[in-house]
Amino acid sequence: MIEFINVEKTYPNDVKALQHINLKINKGEFVAVIGLSGAGKSTLIRCINRMHDISGGRLIVDGVDVGRLGGKEIRRFRRNIGMIFQSFNLVTRTTVLKNVLASFVPELSFGRKLTGMFSKEQKLKALTALDQVGILDKAYVRVNQLSGGQQQRVALARTLAQNPDIILADEPIASLDPVTSKVVMDDFKRINQEMEISVIMNIHHVEIALEYAHRIIGVRDGQIVYDGKAHDVTQQTLDLIYKGSSEEVLEPIERKEAYV
Ligand code: ADP
Repeated sequence: MIEFINVEKTYPNDVKALQHINLKINKGEFVAVIGLSGAGKSTLIRCINRMHDISGGRLIVDGVDVGRLGGKEIRRFRRNIGMIFQSFNLVTRTTVLKNVLASFVPELSFGRKLTGMFSKEQKLKALTALDQVGILDKAYVRVNQLSGGQQQRVALARTLAQNPDIILADEPIASLDPVTSKVVMDDFKRINQEMEISVIMNIHHVEIALEYAHRIIGVRDGQIVYDGKAHDVTQQTLDLIYKGSSEEVLEPIERKEAYV
């Protein structure tokens, strides 16, 4: 379980990115965090694996007080939490398999790190992860020969190879077209349902968030303004999250079919 207890995050430039965040996310949930650009979505997600330190309150993940972890402990803690970014973060000039194997580098002995020798078991885990996202046939293809959607699936496989309990995804489909976005979201859905991995995703597309996530957390000006089931979201909820902003990104529920 992930628990935010009165969490605050103020950046060094005094921007209060998160204020009074109280939240409990249970194992196996599929949560979409939505809100305007600058609302605090990314900060909220990145505090969970301590990519950002919180400035106040407590954050507990599976019984671990994240703020109290020391250097080595943070690395071990992060092994259970996969992270997916908008930009895939892959080494594009090398093969898909090598990119997935890269997730095991922290586990290698010093000697093996130098030679880049992975164990048979690690290779098997990497190939299994590629199979789980449907791109096993691309294992020996160079990443720069793949489409954006396929590259995001490589990133997902790299995360799955770690056998995580939680996957954090920061705008994972922001650079993909609507059709490819759905393919990648289907992967997340399957992983969530079949492997019981919790998925917490920061997402710009409201229709897709409502279609795939069970729970929606609406963030505005660093605060949670909605926390509830996706199918309970109404136009009023969306107004609460988005309305009155100079940024016209309000995407009414009726437009959902545009993505089908
Ligand atoms: P979102 O993901 O909803 O777009 P962010 O969490 O990225 O929002 O940002 C929330 C607020 O914190 C914004 O005002 C943003 O400018 C600010 N912010 C984000 N990252 C930093 C940083 N590293 N240093 C200073 N301010 C930041």
